[in-house]
Amino acid sequence: MVEIIFIGTGGGRFNLVKQSRRTGGFRIHGKNARIHVDPGPGASLGCRMEKINIQKTEAIIATHAHIDHVCELPVIIEAMAGFSGFFGKRVPKGVLIGSKNVVVGTPEYERPVSKYHLSKPEMVVVPELGKPFKFAQDCAFCAMPANHDEKTAFGFTLVIDGVKIGHITDTDYAGVDWSQYSGCDLLIANVIKPSGKSIPDHLSCTQAIDVFKAAMPKRAIITHIGLELDSIADSEAKKLSQACGIPVIAAHDGLRIEI
Ligand SMILES: [Zn+2]
Repeated sequence: MVEIIFIGTGGGRFNLVKQSRRTGGFRIHGKNARIHVDPGPGASLGCRMEKINIQKTEAIIATHAHIDHVCELPVIIEAMAGFSGFFGKRVPKGVLIGSKNVVVGTPEYERPVSKYHLSKPEMVVVPELGKPFKFAQDCAFCAMPANHDEKTAFGFTLVIDGVKIGHITDTDYAGVDWSQYSGCDLLIANVIKPSGKSIPDHLSCTQAIDVFKAAMPKRAIITHIGLELDSIADSEAKKLSQACGIPVIAAHDGLRIEI
């Protein structure tokens, strides 16, 4: 059994500031790996509220260097690396998979994590698109395309304990072949706007219809919900279900899904 726990389901600048929905990303808990995806502001407190011990983290995935995705990355790295050996001396532990702007930085994007914290995981990876690799037993990761204003952003698929989970990070609809996300048991998509509204570099519910139709997962969840979508997210998800012919729900803070 794999469990997904939504720590924060809010997206966008206004939600980031207002915290109508939390912004701590989500967790994937398998038999051999507990993974934190995009630890934005409130990730550690959100985990405490959901009774999750962040010291039990084997991997972190940071899809891009925007503040609502990485603000608490150093905190979750601290927790993952933990204490061991004599006198609490730290030894490198865990895996960080991050976009190039997260791990290396570029002139446009100063790296959001210090050299000190980058030395804490046992393995730090900037994944190549479409090249799967294993980072734990029964746990294979593959970075997938996205088209975001953080140009090194990636989505991913993760085959964990025999279940295939896809994640579509912040991205424009244009410029990505969405059929590459096909075959997922569960597809978690960042959808910030309701139908009929749009914003560059992010998906709306209208665009999500075509994304889901191309990928055809067994089920889908929308998250990273912006203020305009917030109060109508459940009804918009129902419309998506009807339009795509697959079960679609809107995540809410604290939602737990077992697959
Ligand atoms: Zn972003």
